[in-house]
Amino acid sequence: MMADDYDTRGLLRPLVFRLHDNVPAIVREVLLERGWTEFDKKEQDDADWNLYWRNSPFRMTDHHSIKPWQRLNHYPEAVRITRKDYLARHLKRMKGAYGSGLYEFSPVAFIMPNDYVKFIAEYSKERQSVGRRPSYWICKPVDLSCGRGILIFQDIKDLVYDCTVIVQKYISNPLLISGYKMDLRLYVCVTSFCPLTIYTYKEGLVRFATEKFDLGSLDNVYAHLTNTSINKYGASYKKYKEGIGCGCKWTFSKFRSYLRISGVDDMVLWQKINNIVILTLLAVTPLPVASNCFELFGFDILIDDKFKPWLLEVNYNPALCLDCSIDDTVKRKLLHDIVELLNYKQTDTLRQNQVAGIKAGRRRVPWSTAGESATEETPGVLTCQKVAKCTSASLVQPALQAARGSIRKVAVLTKKTARAHPRNTLTSQLRERMNMPKIPSQAKAEAKNKQLQGARYSSHKSAQLSRWLPTPDFCNYKSTTRPYFLSDKDQRPIPRVGDFVLIFPFNEAALQACRGGTDTKSIIKEINKLVSKRLPSKQQNTKKRVGYLTPV
Ligand code: ADP
Repeated sequence: MMADDYDTRGLLRPLVFRLHDNVPAIVREVLLERGWTEFDKKEQDDADWNLYWRNSPFRMTDHHSIKPWQRLNHYPEAVRITRKDYLARHLKRMKGAYGSGLYEFSPVAFIMPNDYVKFIAEYSKERQSVGRRPSYWICKPVDLSCGRGILIFQDIKDLVYDCTVIVQKYISNPLLISGYKMDLRLYVCVTSFCPLTIYTYKEGLVRFATEKFDLGSLDNVYAHLTNTSINKYGASYKKYKEGIGCGCKWTFSKFRSYLRISGVDDMVLWQKINNIVILTLLAVTPLPVASNCFELFGFDILIDDKFKPWLLEVNYNPALCLDCSIDDTVKRKLLHDIVELLNYKQTDTLRQNQVAGIKAGRRRVPWSTAGESATEETPGVLTCQKVAKCTSASLVQPALQAARGSIRKVAVLTKKTARAHPRNTLTSQLRERMNMPKIPSQAKAEAKNKQLQGARYSSHKSAQLSRWLPTPDFCNYKSTTRPYFLSDKDQRPIPRVGDFVLIFPFNEAALQACRGGTDTKSIIKEINKLVSKRLPSKQQNTKKRVGYLTPV
């Protein structure tokens, strides 16, 4: 062992994040709150980081050179569902392949100018059918966001566009609360496309229009669009709106209790929304294989007055800016839970290849060895009980100094947001352990012990692993890296992490259907079974049918 190695075994190394330009400030804040430090290009080696967060896609070389201790916040080609025209195309293909029954959750859409003739045919057919009220349509540029460039029309003479757009059926009977239109911003985290692993976030944002819904004024964006980026500039944004309050947002929690008080059984609604998420992601699966990524999507769901949820679009980099206190409540906790979902292990703080012993970093903060806390159940996870043994004050000093800088930074940032976050986690324990070094001799002995435990663990687990992990040739999956999102206990995706709930795989059959590649047909069959079990859904949907909800 090199002297350098020996020195580094005394104390804890923090996890390191790397941010690209324009990443919202809250990402940095949350990571610092958790005791992470920021990557320093000048001081550290290229691979000496644990999480790289960017607003734009990574280069394929970033994916190819990923290390076991690292995570990237994007999958290659996630844009396949986040661009409006791509999404429309994928969903149309799935409708064709699996029937429109399951895939009727997205409004009929035409991509212009390509589908111009088809659109005219549909438009004319509607106009000619006697007794049918002509539809309203919404025209959206395919690669713009925040409600930019959107136009709502009923008469084709009002349709104008100068770029690629989708013309989508406008849902003209939205669920209204006190007369205001609303939609849901649902956060979805995909920890793997191969095997498909999807979590939805229980908390989220209900986004309101700030003027009352009125089909007589199609050009009033404050009545028809629910984007905060638009409504925050509306005259009514800051005013108290009856039944809604000030601003333009609610949390899902508030919405849920509102529905329940109004006599609506929302269970079926959320199940339908989960199905929309799964079916949408299935439409783009598999994406090119990449290890150690995750993708946070923002699904925009509109509910109509019959409580049918509609998928409007899927957002890449859902907004993480803080426009109001509700944003802060939801997004801060969301980011904390994302980090928990990334399931970092103590060994990840080493940032070195465990097999070859190759280190990534030059700048080192000594760390505590993993051995004392490794158990059969949770290898590498720190436990406070064992930590309590480390008390040698003389050895604390160098580590304290190293950690003090980052702690000071954290303290400043956490002052205004000193709230309770999950404690029994790697990063919360890291914070606790910043002051708790190991005695080198003890550390050495425990490291050896850990190695033995590790050996026992891997042979013991390999049988379990083969139950559902992809085979080495499955999607060319990198078998050298165990997927980070599997639990140590049973090698399956962890069912719940913070407010993230696993929605796929949802049963053993779905899990098996992802085993040797994504067997979409079998998965669809399983979803169909679930849906038919729920029938007749019409009665279940609402205890009391309320199309126009009034304030409670
Ligand atoms: P952007 O990416 O510009 O936000 P969206 O597709 O999310 O585009 O549309 C913006 C807003 O327009 C939505 O939040 C919703 O309020 C409204 N909207 C979009 N599509 C429809 C639709 N088909 N029916 C009713 N309202 C819609």
